[in-house]
Amino acid sequence: MEFDQNKDHIGGNFEWDVAPSCCDLLRGAVDEEKFIFVSNFASKGSNSFYMMPVTSDGYFARESGVTINHCPWCETKISGTKKYPGTKSA
Ligand SMILES: [Zn+2]
Repeated sequence: MEFDQNKDHIGGNFEWDVAPSCCDLLRGAVDEEKFIFVSNFASKGSNSFYMMPVTSDGYFARESGVTINHCPWCETKISGTKKYPGTKSA
């Protein structure tokens, strides 16, 4: 699967199929802060999560995100999947 990161900059612009349930901080960072992004790349039943470091000017500090596998707050392994339009969730 191709990993086109530019198309993945849609933090908060999607619905959860399975929202990350480890803690409210992680979910808030995706849904509200737009600080952690969820890639369309998925493996083992979870989408990839990554963060985009920004400079003090608000520009992205680097071209690609830093993938995170564990919640930065509670250190639980992150698991969550997006709901895709046309996909029926159980
Ligand atoms: Zn957490």
